[in-house]
Amino acid sequence: MLVRSASWDKTADVVAIGYGAGSGVAAITAAENGADVLILEKQPREGHRTNTNMSGGIYITPYDYQVGLEYMTALCRVAGFPNMLWTDRATIRTWAEYAATGAQWVKDRGGNIFPNPAPGEHPQLPGGADVGKHRFRGMGMGLARFLDEVVKAKKVSVAYETTAVHLLTNLRGRVIGVEAVETAGSRKKRVRIGANKAVILAPGGFEHDEEIKLQYLKVYPTWSTGTEFNTGDGIRMGIEVGAQMWHMNCVSARFVFKFKEYPWAFACDYLGRAQLAKAPGATEESIPVNSGHIIVDRDGKRFTSENVKGHCLFYELPVFDTHRLMYTRVPSYFIFDSRRMANGPLAAVTSGPAGPLRLYNWSPDNSKEIERGWVKTDNTIKGLARKIGLPADNLDRTVRNFNKYCAAGKDPDFSRSKRELLPLDSPPYCAMELWPGGPNTQGGPRRNSKGQILNADGNPIPGLYGAGELGSVYGMLYPGGGGNLTECFAMGRVVGENVAK
Ligand SMILES: Cc1cc2nc3c(=O)[nH]c(=O)nc-3n(C[C@H](O)[C@H](O)[C@H](O)COP(=O)(O)OP(=O)(O)OC[C@H]3O[C@@H](n4cnc5c(N)ncnc54)[C@H](O)[C@@H]3O)c2cc1C
Repeated sequence: MLVRSASWDKTADVVAIGYGAGSGVAAITAAENGADVLILEKQPREGHRTNTNMSGGIYITPYDYQVGLEYMTALCRVAGFPNMLWTDRATIRTWAEYAATGAQWVKDRGGNIFPNPAPGEHPQLPGGADVGKHRFRGMGMGLARFLDEVVKAKKVSVAYETTAVHLLTNLRGRVIGVEAVETAGSRKKRVRIGANKAVILAPGGFEHDEEIKLQYLKVYPTWSTGTEFNTGDGIRMGIEVGAQMWHMNCVSARFVFKFKEYPWAFACDYLGRAQLAKAPGATEESIPVNSGHIIVDRDGKRFTSENVKGHCLFYELPVFDTHRLMYTRVPSYFIFDSRRMANGPLAAVTSGPAGPLRLYNWSPDNSKEIERGWVKTDNTIKGLARKIGLPADNLDRTVRNFNKYCAAGKDPDFSRSKRELLPLDSPPYCAMELWPGGPNTQGGPRRNSKGQILNADGNPIPGLYGAGELGSVYGMLYPGGGGNLTECFAMGRVVGENVAK
């Protein structure tokens, strides 16, 4: 919004919008480089929940620059079009450079992290098998505590209950401040906050804006396992000052559970991994699989190997039937039996609403969720199909075929891995609806390798930077669990260094 003469209610060198890991890391870095920083956060301090503190606290820390560079470059390609990259090469290089030193940056500031060795989500790509990771003790909450401590130590101010609504520009198009609404009880007050050096736009993604998701994501609905306060404000503010958008149809997502009683979705724990991981010495790869399950579409048919594609199964879901006006894989159904039920909570309890924040207490034996009607059960597959409204003969045939493949140790339809070829033969049989969804959207204002937000011509909008998942560096393919926090730690530092200049 253009302002001809600005009179400010307060000013700072750098004003950051939103208080998650993206702006936290940028703010800390800017403060370390001599800037006086003010963060505006729309939520109250008490109960402040972000995608950051609901996260698993894992982040990618490539063993070296070269590995990171190769992997990110490979992720940005579309086969056959070598010059079309989802993200420009300069930004990829900067990401690789800063991601490789991300663990040291946290350790130097007292962060409590430990190595979490795991390959990237696409180990077949160059560099993919060698990407390292670290994890915060206390997961996302541990990470948020760490940020709070360092933010305080560096004397960064945080104004809670202050919602940014407009970016303010001068006649030359420079972003010089923010118009915000301060809330105190039932009182609301419009304020103008001046930024002497820069504004950092980091209010998270558009996970909870239905209209933006309908218009931009590849399939609707798409539900979020994260904070309901990420409502796409950064998209609207960015468009208002002429920002170019990128990665708008990209999202790290798969299937989730969604129930009308709650705003957040729940990540699925198909195998009962949280429970099984308690086996002595268990690692991600060695965790035993002791229960079978399949995923079927609205016609009761399988369409995927079910080898969980952590953050990109989403891209297999947009199959739209133009006669029935519906996505035939939305919802899909998680079909399992009593063996999985015995493996503990059906939802992930390591992050998200049923995670350490305990926005919802998922019962250890799923009894509460069966009572609520979230899980349907029946002693026969045909009976189960009728309860969830699927063609009974189709589902019955699908399960019989799957059980035959299990007996033969080979899945000719979708090449499911052998260790997951376990039959469904232990009633009661169970079903849950599966919806597209996941942790976060990736799209938003496009930025360059310095974190400057670009206008329609590809030139930086003076005074405006971006951080965090809004307009992240990731295109179609996400590097794997830990990618977005790496975005916050790597590109957040880049932004912090540049805004302080
Ligand atoms: C369940 C879950 C698990 C995840 N696990 C991982 C993981 O292990 N590793 C990984 O790399 N990534 C993970 N992610 C993704 C990652 O956590 C996020 O992408 C990342 O934390 C985003 O940080 P951010 O600072 O951009 O946004 P957030 O942390 O969401 O912070 C955005 C803040 O902006 C505020 N805000 C919004 N609008 C305004 C406004 N107009 N004015 C002022 N404030 C505003 C919000 O209230 C919020 O506090 C996970 C996400 C979820 C939901």
